[in-house]
Amino acid sequence: MADRGSALLARLQQLPHPVSPADAQGVEQVTDDLHEALHLLGRDSTGQLTSQLSHWREYFGVPEQRLYYVNEEISYNSWDAPPCFKFREWALDSQLYGISLRLARDVYQTLDAFLTRHAPEVVFKALAVLAKLVGNVADCGNTIERFRSVKTDNPKFQAAVWDVAGASQILFLVGWRQHGSTLSLAADAPLGPVQAAASRLRRLADKKGHSGEAVAVKPAGEDGSRPPSPYYGTPGFRYQEQIFHCSACDRPINDGSERLWTGRHDSPPGEYRYECSTCRETGTTFNLCQGCWDVFQTQQAQAQQGSGGGAQAQQGSRDGTGSSHFLHDRTHAFQHIGPRMSRHNDYYGNASSSSDPSNPWGNRPRGAGYGRALQRLSERYGGMRFA
Ligand SMILES: [Zn+2]
Ligand SMILES: [Zn+2]
Repeated sequence: MADRGSALLARLQQLPHPVSPADAQGVEQVTDDLHEALHLLGRDSTGQLTSQLSHWREYFGVPEQRLYYVNEEISYNSWDAPPCFKFREWALDSQLYGISLRLARDVYQTLDAFLTRHAPEVVFKALAVLAKLVGNVADCGNTIERFRSVKTDNPKFQAAVWDVAGASQILFLVGWRQHGSTLSLAADAPLGPVQAAASRLRRLADKKGHSGEAVAVKPAGEDGSRPPSPYYGTPGFRYQEQIFHCSACDRPINDGSERLWTGRHDSPPGEYRYECSTCRETGTTFNLCQGCWDVFQTQQAQAQQGSGGGAQAQQGSRDGTGSSHFLHDRTHAFQHIGPRMSRHNDYYGNASSSSDPSNPWGNRPRGAGYGRALQRLSERYGGMRFA
């Protein structure tokens, strides 16, 4: 195995864009196939870093209770994380918790496979109980004896974990052993695997995804504050988090979520929405669809011509007479909101350029080390400091 590993490293270094052992980040531990290694490292066949690595985002679809992955750069979405996304998670855990890349991979894959094995309520109940159990041990550094063991016939544990196929697998993977009706971890068991499993279990149980950064995409009206739209859950709007109707023609404005979500090209394309930011500041909502926005623009242009100049037109709206002739008050400012595919940029400020050092998805510096891993961990937890 060691020989195969070094053979792979040698081949990586012979590429037109050589991948150094430091940049290979231990990939030889999980594959001896050059093609697969390049995929995992987010590199093309010449060894060049592919830009798409930095464009993958993780989302949690609340209606489906399921993670999904979006890459705007190549207009692609997937239920399954791409290899380069997974590998970064494995490498991060391997560095942070001092575990082998192979074990980091197995922790990830074990939990990932479990996510879709049962109904979501069963999965998340199990994850919550496991996160508590493993988290307790990790938090005290395995110094508190009573945290190490759990009875398989403990009613809560039995119902949520023990009787659920596949749920206990993570415990056995990171060191728990069964003795009769007791599952326990040895007092001198390596802590790294337990810590890796604990942090991953917590993120998944919290529905923050593998990265801890998954953005929840909510179903219709979940927060109760949204005006009901009869279009929620209907074809074309099945995945739309919030449906705005045009304030002028009452047409629902499709934000493209269903197409984004399903990847189906027969889903309606997303449309632009024009939201009045002046009204928003006063707590009211005013939206225009594309068609009505065009009408509004035409009205303004005609008014400019008819009144012979901008100064007079402004006068007209300032004394309040303008609004009755127009779809909306002409002095108000509008925000142009693009369909869902481009709106993802807004959530992240579109700072995904590879040069941004604060961007956890940016290009990896050479020989990413422990410090870098801590920085990413800090970013993962919203800036919390880790020493
Ligand atoms: Zn309209
Ligand atoms: Zn307004």
